[in-house]
Amino acid sequence: MNHSRVLDTLVKNLEGMAYRCLHDRHWTMIFVSQGCQELCGYAPADMVENNTVSWEEITHPEDRPRIRQQIEAAVRSGQRFAVQYRIVTQTGQVKWVAERGIAIHDEQGEVAIEGFIEDITARRATLEALGEAELRYRHIFEHASEGIFQSTRDGRYLAANPALARLYGYESAAELIADLGDIERRLYVLPNRRRDFLHQIETHGAVLNFESEVYRRDGSRIWISENAHTVHDPKGEFTCYEGTVQDISERKKTEAHLRLLAMVFSNSNEAIIVTDGDNRIVATNPAFSVLTGYQPEDVMGKNPRVLSAGTTPPEVFKEMWTSLQQDGAWQGELWDRRKSGEAYPKWLSISLVRDEAGQVRNHIGSFIDISELKATQERIRHLAHHDTLSDLPNRYSLQKKLEQAVAICKRNHMQMALMLIDLDRFKTINDTLGHQAGDELLIQVAQRLNGAVRESDIVARLGGDEFVVALPGISSPADAAHLADKIGREISLPYQINGQEQRTTPSIGICLYPGDSTEIGDLLKNADVAMYHAKAKGRGNFQFFTEDMNVATTERMSIEADLRLALAHGEFLLHYQPQLDLRSGTIVGVEALIRWQHPTRGLVPPGDFIPIAEESGMIAAIGDWVLEEACRQLSIWQQKGISHLRMSINLSSGQFLDKTLPIRIHELLASNNLSAHLLDLEVTESMSMASPDESISVMKTLRSSGLTLSIDDFGTGYSSLAYLKLLPINTLKIDRSFVKDIESDPNDADICDVTVLLAHKLGLEVVAEGVETEAQLKFLLSIGCEKIQGYLISKPLAAEQAEQFIRNNRPMADLGTIDLWSSAEPSELVPDHAKA
Ligand code: C2E
Ligand code: CA
Ligand code: CA
Repeated sequence: MNHSRVLDTLVKNLEGMAYRCLHDRHWTMIFVSQGCQELCGYAPADMVENNTVSWEEITHPEDRPRIRQQIEAAVRSGQRFAVQYRIVTQTGQVKWVAERGIAIHDEQGEVAIEGFIEDITARRATLEALGEAELRYRHIFEHASEGIFQSTRDGRYLAANPALARLYGYESAAELIADLGDIERRLYVLPNRRRDFLHQIETHGAVLNFESEVYRRDGSRIWISENAHTVHDPKGEFTCYEGTVQDISERKKTEAHLRLLAMVFSNSNEAIIVTDGDNRIVATNPAFSVLTGYQPEDVMGKNPRVLSAGTTPPEVFKEMWTSLQQDGAWQGELWDRRKSGEAYPKWLSISLVRDEAGQVRNHIGSFIDISELKATQERIRHLAHHDTLSDLPNRYSLQKKLEQAVAICKRNHMQMALMLIDLDRFKTINDTLGHQAGDELLIQVAQRLNGAVRESDIVARLGGDEFVVALPGISSPADAAHLADKIGREISLPYQINGQEQRTTPSIGICLYPGDSTEIGDLLKNADVAMYHAKAKGRGNFQFFTEDMNVATTERMSIEADLRLALAHGEFLLHYQPQLDLRSGTIVGVEALIRWQHPTRGLVPPGDFIPIAEESGMIAAIGDWVLEEACRQLSIWQQKGISHLRMSINLSSGQFLDKTLPIRIHELLASNNLSAHLLDLEVTESMSMASPDESISVMKTLRSSGLTLSIDDFGTGYSSLAYLKLLPINTLKIDRSFVKDIESDPNDADICDVTVLLAHKLGLEVVAEGVETEAQLKFLLSIGCEKIQGYLISKPLAAEQAEQFIRNNRPMADLGTIDLWSSAEPSELVPDHAKA
């Protein structure tokens, strides 16, 4: 071969060196070192002398153009070059080689390339692998859903991935790194948590699942969990912290939610049982233990059936499972047994929990003990059917009971008596002693009624002071009469109320099934009618219903209706009955007695309408009218010169107890320019004795204005002497019933005698009422009675006639014939207080 000197020298130098070659710019090999054979499998001789294979051919076809270019460029520039390319060995194996070389110009200007070729197949493989790994990690880093970071000790980020940026609310990692110069200063982490973090990582070199609440860029808070460790360089010097951050806000929320549910579960007042798909108990709450007495371990894994009392009807369970199957839920009442053995009713709600596949996973049962509720319901039911005060059946259940009783009587062809019992004077007791005392009385009456009848009889309270007793299966009305009599006696016995003795009597109306009616409504109505008749008969008795009573009742109702209009129509008037003073023989006063000038009935006496007015509440207005009219008349007489005349006015119990009465009387006297001593108020014995304490205080108030008080109808009630002594009264009026038979009945004569004695002993005057005969007058004179009133002197007269009577009266002339003063000296008869 012909080579230049330079090349020869080069070849000489290169010989023996591995992987060296020398080729011209056309890749014709000038020299190939032995080592190259190892590389490509071809012998150097083949490449250089024999030229059987060129280096270009050995070069991988894909790399040839690039290499050619690079070598050309190197030749032109005369610079060193380094190329990497693939060769195909003699055996067809592809290898990577690196060739570094330089173009050498010889003296003829020829260029040769000296190259150093190296097999880099292995290295390339390693590098490639390394690059791939790097790529892979980069990929993970960029796309990880967790935030990944490297930071300095003082909290500056050295590296951060997009996930971390997103987590903290940044667009990109670069933005985060730029903004977050200092974790602490930026207050992304709560300061004390940052301290905990640093402490852990510095002492242990790592933190695991470090949870903290952190702020995002926009100020919102999230929960994160962080894993981090310290990184050191090979020499052991601290490099950075490196770690991952996860947004666990959702998990925290779920946890909080679960905690809440757990709280609900354990704090629920309802007992809760959770069972699995096979209905084995897997959880119970504390309320369950409280309610049942079972601890969780007592029942865990067991079927809830262990709780059952065994008394729930099987149908209930059947229905329960059907509806669970169909609707996934059931509610109902079951009977269970507590650990203590006590059975109780519970209200249970069950729902099913199914998994995605529709398999039943759990049953959730929650229940409450409804024994209280049931007891309350029972109480309410009882209340609905019973009178709260007396605990007797009320009107509602009376109806039901009577229906049953009537049905039984009808079937067995039996009679039934129905009694309506009304307490006399109850309103007075209620008004004077208060409702509590009234209630107490009703309770005691109820007890006595219950005690008086048989178990099979019905006792009920209709309301107010009205009771009903029904006696089904009586054999004759006499049975009813017998019981009515017994009830009458028992109810009339004294009552102890607030430490005081009180009395009442029952007025009883009786009606019979089927004789009087077969309808319950009519039976009650008829008994009511009969009861009113008992009242009219003077109370404290019983009456059987008769058809006539119905007529009377209708009459009464019509009177009541007319009475309502009577005041407005000016149909009332007063008559005045003169009172004679036996000591002076002069008319000293008149008693005002009301009359009703009815448009069709004519003059109605007070006995026919006063009781109706009292019961219907109209008495207050009528009483007021009487007071006004009497005062007006008295004032007229005063002006006409009849100055000594006194006026007696009757009070009804309602008026007497009205707190405004003293004021009204005071006003009336003032407006009529009357002196109070001209007025005398009559209160019946029963009114004043109904509640003596109350009466005493009312009377004292009335007396304080200067008027006088009389006890009317004395002898007809149950006067207590002890109380009579305390009443601030002036006069006793002996009832007409005693005067009437003075001559024939020694008893009545004695009563009159004793009354006068008693009155005088108490410093009271006596007026005898209803004196019709001279004989009566004589007797009354003989026992020292001061005044008389009666037809013997005069009937009640209209105002003008009364005035006439008083003016014309020279009674001594008429009375002279009976020698009024023969039996007693008038002066001796004058009581002490009257003298003063
Ligand atoms: P009272 O207060 O006992 O009145 C006396 C009654 O006996 C009067 O009946 C009178 O006419 C009657 N009378 C008087 N002398 C005789 C007699 O010699 N023989 C007979 N058989 N009767 C005589 P009257 O006017 O029918 O009054 C009945 C009752 O009505 C009164 O009894 C009184 O309790 C009541 N009353 C009358 N006026 C009023 C009134 O303005 N207010 C109130 N609350 N009750 C009144
Ligand atoms: Ca009277
Ligand atoms: Ca009287």
